[in-house]
Amino acid sequence: MISEELILRLSHADPAVRIRAIEELARLDDPDALACLVARLNDSEEQVSAAARAALCRVTGLDLGGERDAWLDWWKQKAGLTCAHCGKRLYSSRLYYLARIQLTSEPRELYLSQEDLRPRTAGDLRRAAEELSKHDPAGLEEEVYVHLRYYLCTPCKLEFVRDARESGALDDD
Ligand SMILES: [Zn+2]
Repeated sequence: MISEELILRLSHADPAVRIRAIEELARLDDPDALACLVARLNDSEEQVSAAARAALCRVTGLDLGGERDAWLDWWKQKAGLTCAHCGKRLYSSRLYYLARIQLTSEPRELYLSQEDLRPRTAGDLRRAAEELSKHDPAGLEEEVYVHLRYYLCTPCKLEFVRDARESGALDDD
């Protein structure tokens, strides 16, 4: 959480106060603090906008220049990323991982019983239609395919792969 008092100091008339506020923001582990730093790139005093840029470079390990839009694009895409396992923020990580989990029902071929193959009556079809109409289409698809994605930091990725292999996961080609 960023205090209201700190936000006020960011627009204080004295540039030195604004620069100190920037330094404080840079120490917070908070995407909102980064958004405040991005906003200060347009400060009327060059020394303040330079301090905001230097702080952003230090925190993120990137240098996207002094243009606010480039940092804003970065912020929208990356500032909120966290490791799904340990919760660590990923914006300062040079390397992190995207896990894509795909769960498919097996066997994929529909299993047909003798019962399914017997001649349909109008009543059967009506009942089948009623049954289907109770399901929401997304739910039906979810029974066959589930796709999930999440991010992992490097240590959690190593742990994830080790645990998966230990529990018998096979490499997929
Ligand atoms: Zn992690």
